[in-house]
Amino acid sequence: MGLVQCPDCSREVSDQAVSCPQCGYPFRAVPGEPEFHAHRKRVLIGCTILCAVVGLPAGIALEQPWVIILSLVGIAVGGFKLRRLRGN
Ligand SMILES: [Zn+2]
Repeated sequence: MGLVQCPDCSREVSDQAVSCPQCGYPFRAVPGEPEFHAHRKRVLIGCTILCAVVGLPAGIALEQPWVIILSLVGIAVGGFKLRRLRGN
């Protein structure tokens, strides 16, 4: 176990620390941390919106039932996962 210098406030901090105890500077992103969930949520929202505004109209316009079904599945899965993420 060693010491590292915080890039933000220059304080010596344990290299085992997740964030600086003085200024809160994050040293590493840990899965399950709010930052990680926020990123995952943005990706999920992006995919769900893409299915809803691109996939679904394209499927209807091109009269391709499998594109419509795939888009609906994407919206359903995205919505379901977002609901689970919000519970965490
Ligand atoms: Zn600091």
